[in-house]
Amino acid sequence: MPIFEFVCGQCGRTFEELMTFAQMEAGEAACPGCGSSQVQRNLSSFATGTGGGGGTAPVGGCGSGGFT
Ligand SMILES: [Zn+2]
Repeated sequence: MPIFEFVCGQCGRTFEELMTFAQMEAGEAACPGCGSSQVQRNLSSFATGTGGGGGTAPVGGCGSGGFT
């Protein structure tokens, strides 16, 4: 069973639901926040960023302390 991501049309909340395609197409998804069934599929999770470099920022440790 795939996990679908939805956006609530009432409160704007995003949530994930584990359901079949049939259930999804039948509109059985409901917002866990407000209970509204006016939800839309959120396809943004499918759009994986292309390219993508390693965003590893160097961890700045303590510099050389002045040890007199
Ligand atoms: Zn809602």
